[in-house]
Amino acid sequence: MPVQSLSSSQFDAALAYQWRQAGFSDPRQMTARQWWQAVCRTVSSMLPPEDIASPPPRRRRVNYISMEFLLGRLSANNLINLGWYEAVEQALDQYDVKLSDILEQETDPGLGNGGLGRLAACFLDSMATVGQPAIGYGLNYQFGLFRQTFSEHQQHEAPDNWLRHDYPWFRQHDELRVDVGFGGKLITQPDGRKVWQPALWLKGDAWDLPVCGYGNGVVQILRLWQAGHEQPFDLTAFNEGKYLRAEQQGIEAGALTNVLYPNDSHPAGKRLRLMQQYFQCACSIADILRRHLAAGRTLASLPDFEVVQLNDTHPSIAIVELLRILLDEHELDWDNAWAITVNTFAYTNHTLMPEALERWNEPLMRSLLPRHFALIRQIDAHFRPQVESLWPGDQAIWRKLAINADKQVRMANLCVIGGFAVNGVAALHSRLVTEDLFPEYYRLWPGKFHNVTNGITPRRWLKQCNPALSTLIDGTLGKGWVTDLDALQRLEPYADDAQFRAQYRHIKRDNKLRLTAYVQQLCGISLNPDAMFDVQIKRLHEYKRQHLKLLHILWCYQRLLADPQGKYVPRVFLFAGKAAPGYRLAKNIIHAINSVAERVNNDPRVADRLKVVFIPDYRVSVAELMIPAADLSEQISTAGTEASGTGNMKLALNGALTIGTLDGANVEIAEQVGEDNMFLFGLNVPQAKALRADGYDPLIWRQNSHSLDPLLLSLADGTYSDGDTQAFMPLLDSLGAGGDPYLVLADFDDYCAAQDRADTLYPDQDAWTRAAILTTARVGMFSSDRAISDYQRLIWQAARQGE
Ligand SMILES: *Cc1c(COP(=O)(O)O)cnc(C)c1O
Repeated sequence: MPVQSLSSSQFDAALAYQWRQAGFSDPRQMTARQWWQAVCRTVSSMLPPEDIASPPPRRRRVNYISMEFLLGRLSANNLINLGWYEAVEQALDQYDVKLSDILEQETDPGLGNGGLGRLAACFLDSMATVGQPAIGYGLNYQFGLFRQTFSEHQQHEAPDNWLRHDYPWFRQHDELRVDVGFGGKLITQPDGRKVWQPALWLKGDAWDLPVCGYGNGVVQILRLWQAGHEQPFDLTAFNEGKYLRAEQQGIEAGALTNVLYPNDSHPAGKRLRLMQQYFQCACSIADILRRHLAAGRTLASLPDFEVVQLNDTHPSIAIVELLRILLDEHELDWDNAWAITVNTFAYTNHTLMPEALERWNEPLMRSLLPRHFALIRQIDAHFRPQVESLWPGDQAIWRKLAINADKQVRMANLCVIGGFAVNGVAALHSRLVTEDLFPEYYRLWPGKFHNVTNGITPRRWLKQCNPALSTLIDGTLGKGWVTDLDALQRLEPYADDAQFRAQYRHIKRDNKLRLTAYVQQLCGISLNPDAMFDVQIKRLHEYKRQHLKLLHILWCYQRLLADPQGKYVPRVFLFAGKAAPGYRLAKNIIHAINSVAERVNNDPRVADRLKVVFIPDYRVSVAELMIPAADLSEQISTAGTEASGTGNMKLALNGALTIGTLDGANVEIAEQVGEDNMFLFGLNVPQAKALRADGYDPLIWRQNSHSLDPLLLSLADGTYSDGDTQAFMPLLDSLGAGGDPYLVLADFDDYCAAQDRADTLYPDQDAWTRAAILTTARVGMFSSDRAISDYQRLIWQAARQGE
């Protein structure tokens, strides 16, 4: 499709229509918010038509199903990708309206949690940009996760009412409505066929958001399903619905898509969540089949035209749903229905942690989805002979590999058995998937397993969030890097160019000033822009080890108090991230960080040599502000726990040096950037395993460390909590009697040594900037465009077995 250009006069005419429609006689009467609405509606009305019905040219269309899409603000991104930003900016000039100001009116859409949801958003951007036909399928949550505020140093959660009703980018499609059944019973027909009679019907409405490719005129869509009902939700008619009544008094059907469960790596364990998952999958599978059949194609050809990529196990029930429709509604026989199903689905694994692998209790699955449960048993029955032939008579292996065993339904097993491809999200992670998580499946089907290292879109994570650096790179290399991030390699020689280094450093400082102003305004804390900005931004979780960072801060603070004349590099420690509301320890870590911040920031002996800031309500728009301002990127998860990480890539692309463990994609970042341009520390995966196998005792590490004991004591004696010795008990317990499951104390000394290396390098600003430029230059492979082309080559376009 040719790029559609836009002149500012064309835009102006369309804009006039919008403000007149909104009831204004003079646009100058509009508030900033109304301006934003009018501009976005205008752009939306001028989008090239999305053409999802036409057959993809010799390519399978990707149906990317994800419970989360952490989009970030869409307005600027759409304008940039469409190439219309300047024209719109010009058109607004005549009204004395500044585009960048009104774009600030947009609230981030609350449709995701963290990395997994952001990955889905980056992939949509890249698929549109590289011309991979794709549609995203998700849920239209009325409220996002939650809005995070702090009071008395603790996290509080408020509803995130992101104004979905007024969101100008939505297009609703009544004609795409889908009916979804729940509960009820199976009736056996005289001919032996089972028929499912649901007890409750909901309807799913399609709300579409545009996904614009960069500079190619392609517009694809993200389709978000919203639950509604013809009649109020009659709980008594929901014959097996007692559990719902008990847990969700008087819930309305429309409330099904109200909230995004705030689970990150912990299973929500909420029954409503299974309803959400099935609802999303039933709507999406119905939509895919409707499109496919409307194009006059046969069911057997479904896998030739469509592939469904499952973003983690959350949408895995889609596998059974497709099978059900093929068997029950289209009356295919098992072998044909199963072959179509397996050849349609591919699964991305995002976690190795056993507690985070989704499983549902059998009674729940049986009552909510009786037909699906019966089919899962049948899938197991068909699979069993394969297991039996490799491991004859081995009950333990069967109990491990079956989908349904021990009164549970294990969704990861369903995904591996029911799909043609399984991938991990970083080289290390994918290896551990085959070696530790699924070794038996890997023996059965070695060809099913792949690695696709995650990536990030350079459009949002460099061009949009760091305009000054983008302009410098444009001027140095030309503009091609935006769709060819490997081109950044050509920046390498400039690392030795003093003038380029000065420009690069100047941009970093301006970005730090921009963040400084934001922190001043939001938190009332003034920062020293010449201090090292040391940034840890990600969901709060023990495995990500924000508490390790906290111990290092205490270490710096106590060192400074003990040696006030010491020449230590001034640092600003910046955190951002939300804790799941029910995750007590994560919330206690926030409490501790904020308490330490209060003390350090107000200690006159420290002055502006140390500052600690926890920016509330981490989200994409905050990330866009913090990442370009970071000097040091904290990627310090326990080796073997972070599947990939993508925050690590965003920060490196924007020239922050990484301090990190050999975990997730850090391993590949180190290969690209070079270990001498990073600060690696800590146990690696085999060492962490060996330490645990030996019987890890954190107490011994506490005693053997030079510095740990006083730091931990200061958290226990009320120093940071107005004398309250219990304030940080959950945190201290986890590092003591709790056994320190994430090896914080074991890695502490080495972490501090790595931080010392950073301190040594930082004052040599030429050397630091040189490493920063090399970092930017060498992380081109972490573009999500590359990730998408890996998916195409390894999974989506790969020849299928038996062909
Ligand atoms: C990139 C991103 C994440 C993921 O960060 P990790 O460090 O990989 O955990 C989470 N939240 C937001 C808003 C992001 O932009």
